[in-house]
Amino acid sequence: MVDWLGDTEGKPAPEPLSRVQALVNTLDLESGSDRLARADDAEPWLRSQGLLPPGDAVTPGELSDVREVREALRALLVHNAGGPAPPSQELHPLSRVADAATARVRLSADGAVEVAADADSLPGRLLSLLLIVSEAQRAGTWAKLKACGNEKCRWAFYDRSRNHGGTWCDMATCGNKLKNREFRARRRG
Ligand SMILES: [Zn+2]
Repeated sequence: MVDWLGDTEGKPAPEPLSRVQALVNTLDLESGSDRLARADDAEPWLRSQGLLPPGDAVTPGELSDVREVREALRALLVHNAGGPAPPSQELHPLSRVADAATARVRLSADGAVEVAADADSLPGRLLSLLLIVSEAQRAGTWAKLKACGNEKCRWAFYDRSRNHGGTWCDMATCGNKLKNREFRARRRG
């Protein structure tokens, strides 16, 4: 069993937004360890997230699509943290999913209306993540899912601070590390 950093989130998002956070945090930029780099690492995780049907294998092309979607989502989380809005080119993997997949509206017996992606394909399964984003945007939870302000880190964290001004995945590591670096730079300058 390999331990992955994303298995123990210090600042977890509420369900189901945590699924978006989990995807973004399959890559640890600092160490370079990427859970979606190889099919044998990726497949159990994709299955556990409902992104791969049980028994199915993922092709290298599909895996690369998922990684691209992951980085487009990360770009949005940088924006949530106060960074610039990503150029449309960076969001292309997400619009590709939106264009390729369809969703259905279902009416349950008690009158609840649900929108669900047609989940028999990978774009459909990825579209379910976009539907989670859509719901979180309406609920106001989306803006609190942010990428860490340390550009070498960019770990996705859920900002539960009272003024929603959180900047770091973890103050003790990224916050202080960066602060010390800036402090040293100022002293040198
Ligand atoms: Zn960080």
